[in-house]
Amino acid sequence: MSDTVLDRAAAPRPTPKPGILDIACYVPGKSKVEGIAHPLKLSANENVLGCSPAAKDAFAGAVDQLHMYPDGRTTILRTAIAEKHGLAPEQLIFGCGSDEIFQLLNQAFLEPGDNIVQGEFGFGAYAIGARACGAQVKLAKEIDHRIDVEALLEQVDARTRLVFVANPGNPTGTWITGQEVRRLHAGLPASVILVLDGAYAEFVADPRFEDGMSMVAEFENVVVTRTFSKLHGLAALRVGWAYMPAPIADALDRIRLPFNVNIPAQLAGVAALGDEDFQARSLALIEQWRPWLTQQLGGIGLDPAPSAANFVLVGFPKTPGKTAREAEAYLASKGIIVRGVGGYGLPDHLRITIGLEAHNRAVAEALAAFMKS
Ligand SMILES: *Cc1c(COP(=O)(O)O)cnc(C)c1O
Repeated sequence: MSDTVLDRAAAPRPTPKPGILDIACYVPGKSKVEGIAHPLKLSANENVLGCSPAAKDAFAGAVDQLHMYPDGRTTILRTAIAEKHGLAPEQLIFGCGSDEIFQLLNQAFLEPGDNIVQGEFGFGAYAIGARACGAQVKLAKEIDHRIDVEALLEQVDARTRLVFVANPGNPTGTWITGQEVRRLHAGLPASVILVLDGAYAEFVADPRFEDGMSMVAEFENVVVTRTFSKLHGLAALRVGWAYMPAPIADALDRIRLPFNVNIPAQLAGVAALGDEDFQARSLALIEQWRPWLTQQLGGIGLDPAPSAANFVLVGFPKTPGKTAREAEAYLASKGIIVRGVGGYGLPDHLRITIGLEAHNRAVAEALAAFMKS
């Protein structure tokens, strides 16, 4: 009997492809504490200033267009970003968050048996999409929670298709210089795409940092992703974008969902991009309080990683009573939610989003009391 003949009685129940059920679900930062009505949420690197008032107005102005399909080319936002950053509009791809763009890259380039390479504490979203394609995820050791170019290159083999580097990294907050990024790129075969995830790029002030946009023009295998979720405070609207060589953009355009960025998101994105005052205020807040919080945490015997992003990763002792897990519970009892990062292989660390002055003081005070108790 041919195996194309269907034996209805013997057919098993629907089964996902091999590997799908081995994928662990993404665990987002907590947002609730039992018994506390309005906890302070410092667990998701959101913008504590909210978003641009102009973006809110634009969002509200979309209310009469809810029956309409959005422009599938995201033209207004494409034009605004191309102008602001001096980029070729046709080399931009938009997504439902930059998360969707990682997914599209994985889908377009990975076959079963291929692999992606990332740092050992690399962002979780890259791996989920890669595994869904039957690909392996190879992790490179980091040094002091910072990307090590040589270690990444050592992991690259004949089946590597993509190397993902968040710069600055999440959950580490650390970053590598433009020189290091270029050394990494120079060590990759031309067939491997270097994905530079710039979710926190706007927060870096050091002149040795390079966001990678000019590398997209120079090379055929560099993709830079950005998001409206962090600096612009539009995480709820899910807008991300990426700049890439035209042939890669052409491939992604063929498989993305036709209307993947909705109308309110496109309008609010354009308004946010134009609100330089809100961006400046957001950056100033981080620049003021990131060094302060880092210093306070170090001062009470904790081990903060030097961050260039809008959060700080901090290491705790393994001593019972002083562990990261206990600190997380203690902060929660005070109504402060931070991010446990055990899922990232960092069980002795917590990730804390920089807040308003009162928030940062509350965190520092609570942790000082915790360490003394
Ligand atoms: C927050 C974040 C993003 C952005 O994700 P969106 O899907 O655009 O909200 C991307 N990469 C890293 C490392 C992040 O932390």
